[in-house]
Amino acid sequence: MTDIRHIAADSYNYKTFDAVIVGSGPSGSIVARTLAEKGCHVAVLEYGGLVSPGAMLGPHQAAYGKALTSNGPADGNPWTACCVGGGMRFYNAITFRYRQADLSASQYLTTDMEIDWPITLQDLEPYYLEIEHLLEISGADGFPSFPASPRGLMLSDAMQELGIRSKSIPLAIRPPGTNKGCIKCSACDELACPTDARASVLARSILDDSALPGTISVIYGCFVNRIEMRNDGRAETLECYVPLSSELIRIPVERVIVCANAIQSAALMLRSKSGHAPKGIGNESGLVGRGLSFKISGYSVGYMEPADPSSGAFAPHWGPHASVYTDEFYEHNDVPCRFGGLIYEANFPSPAANVGRVRLHYIAGEEPWSHNRVVLDEAVDQHGIPCIRFEYRNSENDRARMNFLADRADDILRHLGASRVEREPSFQGKGGSHLHGTMRAGSDPRTSVVDSRGRVHGFTNIHVMDGSVMNFAGNSNPAHTLLANARRMAMSLK
Ligand SMILES: Cc1cc2nc3c(=O)[nH]c(=O)nc-3n(C[C@H](O)[C@H](O)[C@H](O)COP(=O)(O)OP(=O)(O)OC[C@H]3O[C@@H](n4cnc5c(N)ncnc54)[C@H](O)[C@@H]3O)c2cc1C
Repeated sequence: MTDIRHIAADSYNYKTFDAVIVGSGPSGSIVARTLAEKGCHVAVLEYGGLVSPGAMLGPHQAAYGKALTSNGPADGNPWTACCVGGGMRFYNAITFRYRQADLSASQYLTTDMEIDWPITLQDLEPYYLEIEHLLEISGADGFPSFPASPRGLMLSDAMQELGIRSKSIPLAIRPPGTNKGCIKCSACDELACPTDARASVLARSILDDSALPGTISVIYGCFVNRIEMRNDGRAETLECYVPLSSELIRIPVERVIVCANAIQSAALMLRSKSGHAPKGIGNESGLVGRGLSFKISGYSVGYMEPADPSSGAFAPHWGPHASVYTDEFYEHNDVPCRFGGLIYEANFPSPAANVGRVRLHYIAGEEPWSHNRVVLDEAVDQHGIPCIRFEYRNSENDRARMNFLADRADDILRHLGASRVEREPSFQGKGGSHLHGTMRAGSDPRTSVVDSRGRVHGFTNIHVMDGSVMNFAGNSNPAHTLLANARRMAMSLK
């Protein structure tokens, strides 16, 4: 059984770990599991704490540091979620596979960086299948589809009438009525599932080492500040800050695998300057932190006529955040650049907040430009750690692609009978829950930071296996691909 404990309660002999993983989100957890399956003894270091069932993301995140944004104020969010289990504790369990176009987006988009992935869909295929079974993804091989919500059914009808194909979203949530299925206790968005019907790294045993030949130890409450090097250029120790005791400690490493999210992973590499890496680990070409991608996305809200209070749109919403979507505009001649994204149902996080309203989300991967990046500011936080700053702006292509998707979402809501449609303000450049691209993968150290297996060019025992290595962010939600790709990379380790 996996040992999960606060670092202050720790009595480990750190020298026994074969690998130390930074971050316990889905990427770090699947890497830990894969190595434990191979018989390795693995430590996972996590800054955030344990999350109670039913906890909400907002208050839970408030304790963790903000980032500076282009205009100066510290109003950026550099976390997906900071806790044991990472963003998957609060996610919406939307688990699409990526398409070949996501891995070879240069046919559609313009950029000054590597955008195509150094692997194909065939390389991911076996790992997608494994993850679908592990998470019990609805609609995948033998698992029942998740039934559409009442709003989902209405949206689906409206789309069909407009000639837009609608589909059922693959969800890593056991459907209601199945064994340990969803009990529709609330509206799921930004909520830690109280029943484990929704898959997380804890709810589906990803982090559980029972019956595995190796072991996993999760040590939380410590912030990995720097990777320190030996004279021969191998990573030797991790310098960690423990806020509880205000102490710096050192944990020896045989191998370090960074899975901290595309912002935090890049910041850790930039903080880790040494004689061997004077500009930070992997940053000889100045690429670490560049190509930061948050996804271009937004929401349209349709306000329904009170004249029809019997409509399903006047009931509160309980259950998954989203159940239906359209991919009609993923690759489509009418979309700017011929490359759009998804539009899907997106219920508000509180059941009652949905009364009289229907909301749609549109989402696509943005062009990864080198001027969009994570840097370390001269300012330091209350622990003396350099503040993270984002520099980010959307391209004209991206604005045009997003406006196209927003217009189609508005069309659907109007067709549904909305008397008024409003677009929620968008906070592009201030963080997001889909983080990608700051340590690009490829074979050439001049244009990439890691190789196709996640090893940092020029270093033998330092790897990155999270969204940082995704050259294009993808036009859909990334968790399934993050898990599949991290497992693929971890499988390649000797
Ligand atoms: C509300 C919400 C809804 C979402 N819905 C979906 C969805 O429906 N479908 C989907 O595909 N995706 C969704 N996502 C995104 C998804 O959760 C993320 O893509 C995914 O969690 C990223 O996994 P990761 O392991 O790479 O990083 P993370 O989940 O961010 O995990 C990284 C972990 O590393 C820790 N860490 C970072 N830096 C350090 C450090 N220096 N020292 C120690 N620990 C550190 C962090 O605290 C964190 O726990 C959602 C996210 C949120 C927040």
